[in-house]
Amino acid sequence: MIGWARTIALCCAAVLACSAWATHGQAEPVPTERGPFVRVLGTVQDGGLPHAACEHAGCRLVREGRAPKRFISSLALVLPETRQVYLFDATPDLREQLDALRDVRTLPIDRVDRAPVDGVFLTHAHIGHYLGLAFFGFEAVHTTALPVWATPRMSRFLSTNGPWSQLVETGNIALRPLPLDRAVELAAGVSVAAFAVPHRDELSDTVGFRIEGPNRSLIFVPDTDKWATWEPSLLERLTGVDVALLDGSFFSADELPGRDVTQIGHPMIGRTMGLLQERVTAGSLEAFFIHLNHSNPALLADSAERREIEARGFAVAQEGQEFGL
Ligand SMILES: [Zn+2]
Ligand SMILES: [Zn+2]
Ligand SMILES: [Zn+2]
Repeated sequence: MIGWARTIALCCAAVLACSAWATHGQAEPVPTERGPFVRVLGTVQDGGLPHAACEHAGCRLVREGRAPKRFISSLALVLPETRQVYLFDATPDLREQLDALRDVRTLPIDRVDRAPVDGVFLTHAHIGHYLGLAFFGFEAVHTTALPVWATPRMSRFLSTNGPWSQLVETGNIALRPLPLDRAVELAAGVSVAAFAVPHRDELSDTVGFRIEGPNRSLIFVPDTDKWATWEPSLLERLTGVDVALLDGSFFSADELPGRDVTQIGHPMIGRTMGLLQERVTAGSLEAFFIHLNHSNPALLADSAERREIEARGFAVAQEGQEFGL
């Protein structure tokens, strides 16, 4: 993969941008008069970047500090007026992701914050999306009745399998039913609605989220089967939506040598751009790719693939990026 090598020199600027985000927690507190917003806490697939045990050129660049480390895909919804924070998915990178929220919390002095977030919305039971819940347990943060919204099947999975069942029994988390296509109100003018998403559903079903603010709405779908399996269609689902953060796991079918990506069951980025091009060009939708696999050349700031995405008016989501709602 020539793109990886070509990029080395240009990665330094990106590394600096990333480290600026890493110290975000020491920044000035977010002003309370600011409106609700979503902050991106992570952008890559469940295996992380560098990916667990991977020695491919792209992962080596990151391990050697020549390209920015990224975190597993996750969002935070922040309501500055009341200092409320809600997580969308709880990833294995949860510790660093909580650090990236210190400027939106009222921090306790000299002790563990036992309530670092006000709730968690879960998409599904694949490792990148819920393992971070473990940090809310007795061995670590030890929250009290932290609301965790999950579908009935996901809730059953959590409450009947350790170690998750211990979080429920100890009262660290309080499972909240997540209705499909019905809004959960979090504050005046701010709500979250889950909708069913087709995906490999071994341990749980899968949902995406539509987050509605006073002025704008955003959709988050980190993991899905191909768009052709969607009913209603992706475009119907995006009616009235201003910002879309969508499964960008793979750019093309040939990026994993020896493995047929078309059999993996994610939409290719090019296909997604084709479906949404009209709305993006018309300026009625901002579309970002998230949940990128470590193999995806669009992770690199100067790759031909990234340039194509940006030339068509789309973008790759970045850690620390914010969307006012
Ligand atoms: Zn995933
Ligand atoms: Zn790799
Ligand atoms: Zn998944």
